[in-house]
Amino acid sequence: MTIESWPAHHAQLGPLTIRRALPVRQRRMVGPWCFLDRYGPLTFQAGKPMDVAPHPHMGLQTVSWLLDGEVLHRDSLGFESLIVAGELNVMTSGRAIAHSEETPGRSSGVLNGVQLWVALPDAVRNSDPAFNHYHDLPVIESRDGSATVIMGALEGVHSPALSFSPMIGAQLSIVRGGELWLDLNRRFEHALFVLDGSATLEGEQLSPDILYYLAPDRAELSLSSPDNARILLLGGTPFEERILMWWNFVARTHDEIERARSEWQTGTRFGEVKGYAGARIDAPALTGRAAPPNPAS
Ligand code: MN
Repeated sequence: MTIESWPAHHAQLGPLTIRRALPVRQRRMVGPWCFLDRYGPLTFQAGKPMDVAPHPHMGLQTVSWLLDGEVLHRDSLGFESLIVAGELNVMTSGRAIAHSEETPGRSSGVLNGVQLWVALPDAVRNSDPAFNHYHDLPVIESRDGSATVIMGALEGVHSPALSFSPMIGAQLSIVRGGELWLDLNRRFEHALFVLDGSATLEGEQLSPDILYYLAPDRAELSLSSPDNARILLLGGTPFEERILMWWNFVARTHDEIERARSEWQTGTRFGEVKGYAGARIDAPALTGRAAPPNPAS
């Protein structure tokens, strides 16, 4: 079965260089997943390699997942939450929320993780915002590796995290020399993204920082690794609604984006993030029309 692949592109997030694997020009979404930033691994002696000042979101969930290190989240609902590797922060923006994310004052001096967004279906995208932290996620263990279920469900094992459409987000770990088999939901499209180590998907070598896309109607997956690879598996039923993404917003129309931008600038909608030392992020200028929807749907 053919596997499509696209390289992540580099972008700057404050002081942090990230690799953005979603959206790419050829692929805007995988299931409801519409954004994937990979950062680290990096080490530091002082300062804050992650320092994203208060900014707004609407129409999406942010899914924060670390492989190493710590990130401190604060939001306009008043939540302050430190995540460490293996724990999960999910922020459901609904119609409006603002947050900041930064390396905490006391940290282990390493940073390694991913930042993901899930588009909310129309029926819930204007709901009240929410924030949830999850300490423990279910793990599917096998002889040759494991799968931590971050969002949605895999092989009948469900993440406790709040979600609103059929999806999977999982971290797969393969032991050295192992071959990990997983049953997939045939209705889902999937993507694989190598986090560390090297892996082979049914004979094809997978490289880091490349998004590998697997079309629907695939019943299983077999991954091998010579060296303890960790891989992110994303998927879901192809998102039927046409979305528009601009800056930190997921919307349906250009007018919604224009209004959200203006209501962030005037401070009338997204609330205030307390406790962050510094100024909030101004919205960029909105020129022309917002980005086109997923060309594949
Ligand atoms: Mn954000």
